[in-house]
Formats: sequence, structure tokens, C-alpha cells
Amino acid sequence: TSAAPVTVIGLGPMGQAMSRALLEAGHPVTVWNRTPRRADALVEAGARRADSPREAVETTDLTLLSLTDYRAMHDILDGTTSVLAGRTLVNLSSDTPAATRDAAAWAASHGASFLTGGLMVPAPMLGTERAYAFYSGDEEAFAAHRATLARIAAPRFLGADPDRAQLMYQAHLDVFLTTLAGFAHATALAGSAGITAQEFLPEVMQLFRAIPEMIAPDGIEALGARIDAEEHPGEGSSVTMMGATADHVHAASTVVGIDTTLSGAVQGHYRRAIADGGGAEGWTRIISGIRAPRP
Ligand code: NDP
Repeated sequence: TSAAPVTVIGLGPMGQAMSRALLEAGHPVTVWNRTPRRADALVEAGARRADSPREAVETTDLTLLSLTDYRAMHDILDGTTSVLAGRTLVNLSSDTPAATRDAAAWAASHGASFLTGGLMVPAPMLGTERAYAFYSGDEEAFAAHRATLARIAAPRFLGADPDRAQLMYQAHLDVFLTTLAGFAHATALAGSAGITAQEFLPEVMQLFRAIPEMIAPDGIEALGARIDAEEHPGEGSSVTMMGATADHVHAASTVVGIDTTLSGAVQGHYRRAIADGGGAEGWTRIISGIRAPRP
């Protein structure tokens, strides 16, 4: 069977990389971007340029959208609603759950199938074995286009609720961004003692690599099962012990005069768990306080 035609709307780094991966896999690719010159290199590589969003959508059954946010999708597609019926839209842009749900309802109201997607790797890794993505929404549409989507990144389907892929993506970015913030804060803290980043980073990478085993010595599945059962055994790393450490990091950050936004936030999680009577439990007890923030 020949590779299915695909339309890609939005040619930032991600849209360009996914278009390239599809072209390399032999898919006929139609592209459209608000700023037309961003399509030039793809057209040279064999993509077809649509002159309007309407033409782009009308050309194929499957349209992928890679945009800054969901507002951009509406800006582009609101004038094309009469041609959406029977087609599939896959929005690979990040936004809030509310914007994602509204878009799914909007697509359904025009007879289009809708999938929310979150690509979990940066542009240069799309189309490689390390690329993966989360999708949720219309399961039939996912099954129909799974092979095409797999050319971009290994697809994982999370269910019908459009929020699920969006929040799975954002939860991953949460880990990514807070990890980067931890590196940044720690580099500044070490720097206050004259430890350069060149000295510090190779050392701290040892800790970073050991974290999976530290947080889940008996495996990540067992840890997940305990968290879901709201069991937080405290041996080894109680809230009280971890909270004291968080106090020290925050105090040190304050004393040396660096920004304390991050250390204060971390300290806040432990203080809350202690105030709630969870001091003897394990560090995962802080999830309860995060789930139910005080007004
Ligand atoms: P960019 O922000 O570079 O590109 C955004 C695209 O959106 C451009 O094509 C831009 O058009 C278009 N756009 C924005 N606003 C409008 C509008 N109002 N009307 C029409 N077009 C609009 O994005 P990336 O390629 O970096 O990322 C795309 C999505 O992928 C984002 O949601 C991002 O969160 C997500 N993502 C990005 C990753 C990355 O490493 N970059 C990794 C994983 C996910 P124009 O060219 O005319 O400005």
C-alpha cells in the first residue's frame, strides 16, 4: 500500500521536522504556514505548498497542526469549517485542557474527527527511534492514521478524553522544567562558593543518573502502586528528614543571596505535609498537599 497523503499546518521547527520525516517515509505532504517562506525548504524537498488553509485541509483526509497554541488553529481554520466534515485533525500544539476540550467539541460540531497529541522529543529527534508521542481523542481516527503518525514518533494512545494527551504532555514538561530549574538553582548555589559550572555539573550528573533508583529502589511499578493506594511508607526518606534538608537548602540560598523562588516552593511542599501530620511518612506524601492546595 502506498503511503497516505498528509497535510501539515504550522512550520515551526516541529512542523518542519515532522514534514521531513513524512516525506522521507514516502508520504505525499502538503504544507501551509502563515509566513510562506518557512515552507520553501520543504517544497524543495518535495512537499506541495497549499495556497490557503482551505486548500491545505481539502487536499487530504489527515491534517496535522503544529502551532504555538490552540488559538492559532482557530485563526487558521475558522474559515475552513465547511470542508472539515469527514476529515481528521490532529493538533500537536500545547495549550490548556479547556482549550483542548473546546477544540475537540468545535471539530465535532463540524463533523471532523479530532486527536490531541503531544510530541515528547525536540525537533531534531522526530522520525528517529527515540521519538514518542501521546494521543487521545477519537480512537477510530487514531487507529486509521496510526501507521502515518508512527513515521513521526512512536504513538501511544491514552483514551477518548482529549485532555489526557495534553496533560500527559504537560506533566512530562513539568518534570523537564523543574529538573532544569533544579540544575539552574543548584549551579547558582554552588557558584556562590566559587564552584564553577564546569566543576559542578559533572559531579551532579552522578546524582542525576542515580535518582531513578533512589526514588524507586524496588521498581517504578511498585512506587506507582503505593502512590495510587495513598501509601507513603517513611523508612529511609521521611517527610521530616527531607523537609529539614529543604529548610537547609532554602536557608543557604537566602544567606548567599541567590533567588529563593524554587527553594521556597520545595520547602513549602514539605512544610505542608508536616503541618498535615505526615512527617513520619515517606516523601511521596507531599503529593497529597499538591493535590489539594490550601486556598
Ligand atoms: P513555533 O512557536 O516555532 O511555531 C509556531 C507555528 O505556529 C509557526 O508556524 C507560526 O506561524 C504558527 N502560528 C503561531 N500563531 C499563529 C497564528 N495566530 N496564526 C497562524 N499561525 C500561527 O513552534 P514549534 O515548532 O517549536 O512548536 C510547535 C508546537 O510543538 C508547540 O505547541 C510546542 O509546545 C510543541 N513542542 C515543541 C517542541 C520543541 O522542541 N520545539 C517539543 C515538543 C513539543 P509563523 O511561522 O507564521 O509565525
